[in-house]
Amino acid sequence: MNKRELFLQHVAQTSPAPLGLEIVKASGTTLRDANGKKYLDLIAGISVCNVGHCHPKVVKAIKKQLNDYMHLLVYGEMIETPEVQYAKWLTDHLPASLNSVYFTNSGAEATEGAMKLAKRFTNRTRIIAFNKSYHGSTQGALSIMGDEYWRNAYRPLLPDVLHLEYDDPASLAEITTQTACVIAETVQAERGVYTPSAQWMTALRQKCTETGALLILDEIQVGFGRTGTIWGFEQFNVVPDIVLLGKALGGGMPLGAFVADKNIMQVFTEKPVLGHITTFGGHPVCCAAGLAAFKVLLKEGILDQVNNKAALFREMLQHPLIKAVRVNGLLIAVEFEHFDINKQVIDGCLQKGILSDWFLFAPECLRIAPPLTISPKEIKKAVKTILQVLDGISQPK
Ligand code: PLP
Repeated sequence: MNKRELFLQHVAQTSPAPLGLEIVKASGTTLRDANGKKYLDLIAGISVCNVGHCHPKVVKAIKKQLNDYMHLLVYGEMIETPEVQYAKWLTDHLPASLNSVYFTNSGAEATEGAMKLAKRFTNRTRIIAFNKSYHGSTQGALSIMGDEYWRNAYRPLLPDVLHLEYDDPASLAEITTQTACVIAETVQAERGVYTPSAQWMTALRQKCTETGALLILDEIQVGFGRTGTIWGFEQFNVVPDIVLLGKALGGGMPLGAFVADKNIMQVFTEKPVLGHITTFGGHPVCCAAGLAAFKVLLKEGILDQVNNKAALFREMLQHPLIKAVRVNGLLIAVEFEHFDINKQVIDGCLQKGILSDWFLFAPECLRIAPPLTISPKEIKKAVKTILQVLDGISQPK
């Protein structure tokens, strides 16, 4: 069997049409496949490689940690320097009330931990989430996913979950003193980059404060500079009670986290103790990598350039087949009339060495979320290629 056949035979498949590229080297914004063909990466491993693939400082930090130690013990028992340093750095760059970090293995696990924490802290059970939101694929995270098509096959799911319309003032009336938490993406990514109004965000924060429901903002996809500020919620002037982190948090290594005030987090320490248990959460190599990546993001001026680069994409992305372009920093959705056009664009771009994708709840939208290190020259090349491919698509009559 050749490698593709082995991949299909022995690596569990969840789609009838996996991308199936064999990448042998990734560096910065470029991937190289087994045949030597190069690809400009427009999706950054789905908003993970914000400082580029294999940034030398991240690789150096990983190698250094490998020489010291890898896994020691389950989460929370040992004083592990990379974890302590990263928790300190993260909380230094978050509002003062977000000062206690629970590191997990993934974004979904951060979602799970935060929902558990909200139930314990409030002694309430109702969880409110929003239509077209994505928070992970484990049972709890799936229960709050905002799309019945994806949820239905796994019922029964978590009880007492209510889905509301995002960015709709009428929804807020459903948040009551029975509500343990309201969980929302700061910007709905998989809906095809939907940014809510500042008024709604402010009203949501207010309603949670009034009712004692904890506001959980999911920054897993939008954190770490993706939208031009370190955190997406900075753009709305609100502070959540719990923030969810993942993806770029680990600088290319698997890492998630939920962050809250110590006063909230301490409910995990009693009745019962060990309120959330994980073996690998906060793995020292992942924390070392994540800390190095976060420092690179700030110290190499990468964050400062996000909005200018986003503006260049916006300016250039014009074509009769493009229905809309939604931009929040370097998280961009290019909307077409239907999926068939998008699929032709994605396939055509791939042939020409540009890697892109669609969105889970918006298959008609092209995902552009490159490493934030993408250069203006690369942006021009990427957009020219997209437009060229679009020129070759015959418009449906
Ligand atoms: N929340 C959001 C907004 C996400 O985009 C994702 C992943 O795509 C998750 C949560 C889940 O993260 P993970 O895949 O690491 O479990």
